[in-house]
Amino acid sequence: MSQPKILLLGPPGAGKGTQSSNIVEEYDVDHVTTGDALRANKDMETEHGTPREYMDAGELVPDPVVNEIVKAALEDADGFVLDGYPRNLSQAEYLDEITDLDLVALLDVDREELLDRLTGRRVCDECGANYHVEFSPPEEEGVCDECGGELIQRDDDTEETAKERLNVFEENTQPVIDYYEEEGELVRIDGEGTPDEVWAELEAAIEDAA
Ligand code: AMP
Repeated sequence: MSQPKILLLGPPGAGKGTQSSNIVEEYDVDHVTTGDALRANKDMETEHGTPREYMDAGELVPDPVVNEIVKAALEDADGFVLDGYPRNLSQAEYLDEITDLDLVALLDVDREELLDRLTGRRVCDECGANYHVEFSPPEEEGVCDECGGELIQRDDDTEETAKERLNVFEENTQPVIDYYEEEGELVRIDGEGTPDEVWAELEAAIEDAA
């Protein structure tokens, strides 16, 4: 399996972005992430309004908008890690129609830990690098170690919106997890260890799926 097709599931704040970067580096696949694609097009007019209207409230952007983003990205990729999609059953069914997956992995993290991670998260406005005010602070407060850019809090990482995103996850995305589990396809990864520990477990699961 030189170019794996991996689906990385997990609640907001579980570490999907960090672990996707590891997968990209190790397996040279495309990182397909609806969250980043939507953030880059927040004010794009669609027949359902702009993504911003949904994102800033912590709600899901309508399926037709995200389905189109994913279809175009997967068409261009040999192997990929898909992160942030599917987030409801209808997106999971659509994904089934357009591709076959080699591995479906879930990063498992407790809700309280997720809230701490989300509200403390800071991202670089320039290069997108991730920090945490307590768990992984930059050398100089508010400044990116990588590129010197300004560190900001995402609009949807405030406590109120983060809580809403976790509620939306439990309501809409938990059925997606149940669906893959019932199909016998789901591999659970303990997402509460250090990033290196989580990566060791995830990498082993990818090698097993080969
Ligand atoms: P993320 O960066 O994955 O946490 O996504 C940020 C926001 O983008 C979410 O709270 C949603 O508003 C929107 N979003 C990302 N992926 C999807 C998706 N697959 N379906 C609907 N909305 C999405």
